[in-house]
Amino acid sequence: MNWIETPEKVTDAEKDRYDAEEGPPDESWISSDRFIAQFDGAVDDYLSTLITEALKAGASDFFFTPREDMVDIAIRAMGLLRPWGQITREFGIRLITHLKVSANMDILRAFLPQDGRIRYRLANGESIDLRLATLPTMEGEDLTIRILDSRNMLGMEDIGFHRTNFNRLYNIVSQPGGLILVTGPTGMGKTTTLYATLKHLNDGTRKIHTLEDPIEYTLDGLHQSQINLSRGIDFPDLLRGILRQSPDVIMVGEIRDGITADIVVRAANSGQLVLATSHARSTVEACEAMLFLGVQPQFFASCLLGVVTQRLVRKLCPFCKLPLHSEDNGGEEQQMYVPVGCPECNHSGYKGRVAVGEVLKISPDIEKMIRDGSTMYQIHQKAVDEGMVDLRTDAQDKLEKGLTSVDEILRAVPGQFADYNLKKSL
Ligand SMILES: [Zn+2]
Repeated sequence: MNWIETPEKVTDAEKDRYDAEEGPPDESWISSDRFIAQFDGAVDDYLSTLITEALKAGASDFFFTPREDMVDIAIRAMGLLRPWGQITREFGIRLITHLKVSANMDILRAFLPQDGRIRYRLANGESIDLRLATLPTMEGEDLTIRILDSRNMLGMEDIGFHRTNFNRLYNIVSQPGGLILVTGPTGMGKTTTLYATLKHLNDGTRKIHTLEDPIEYTLDGLHQSQINLSRGIDFPDLLRGILRQSPDVIMVGEIRDGITADIVVRAANSGQLVLATSHARSTVEACEAMLFLGVQPQFFASCLLGVVTQRLVRKLCPFCKLPLHSEDNGGEEQQMYVPVGCPECNHSGYKGRVAVGEVLKISPDIEKMIRDGSTMYQIHQKAVDEGMVDLRTDAQDKLEKGLTSVDEILRAVPGQFADYNLKKSL
């Protein structure tokens, strides 16, 4: 059956005919790609096994990569890429096509990057969301699937913030209006923190709008919008539209340009609580990034409530971690732990993840420093003097408590923020 090359559109009449019947349709009219894909039992079974196993392994993403004879499958679990297996090219292409059709993507346009979404029903009746993105390559089309399992959505208290940071975060999100920036590299839990905050705010007393590209998790009670560049709807257009909907809280997926930054600052100054992400490495760099986008320092400083940054590190497995005594530069004894590996942690030495973070709360002094153009270093220093637990201190704290290892800190926290002479401790 040469169905990949001869797709036909499913007519509404065909759909109605199928809906009216029970069970799979008769062979004579299984002519469309969509219906064949829906009833490709082998693909469905394989996918079901794959997803079940990946969820058990704690995977956040799947990667399908066509090669000359095979399709490679890899997963990302706890932030790390890991090979998962290979399937024949023929079966792999069927699988990718099946997924694309299920996500309403155009299978004829394999030469274009595309994205789509599937609500996938698990064997136990629960659902997860899968977000798909394809990319044309030499050997066909790469397919990346992000698993969005809202059953795992964390509460603010589950992220693992240092108590001081948690209290500060709680304090700033409880304000009725103003701007909160969440910053850090991709894959380090910004979205998790944003949704944990939205979940906290979503108590029925506030009208909450989100503006995302793309929508990550869906949360009951929220008004979630997604930009659609192919239809000419971008961030500033949608954001202006949201402001006319009388929102109490707005979450902006990412501040990418000066126009969005400007509207965000104006909204936060006019009384809405605005949460937004940016890609800066530290809290003070996020402030600088906003100024680079052209926002007026005085308007920005007056609406900014705080900035959160974080890195996710793997947690040492409590069943097998080993203490390691060493001396630091000053000759003082330090205790740290190293991963070992046991059946409880699949012999990886790690189980789960925890955030290493910092929360910059804008005090009147810091507000003045931002207005006056103080350097990042000066602002950081002032915040630490005011009691901020910064990335470096939080990392050290989590090492000493045996929550994570030196290797994890070195991998996730940039050198300038984690300058402890850790290698010596090893
Ligand atoms: Zn273990």
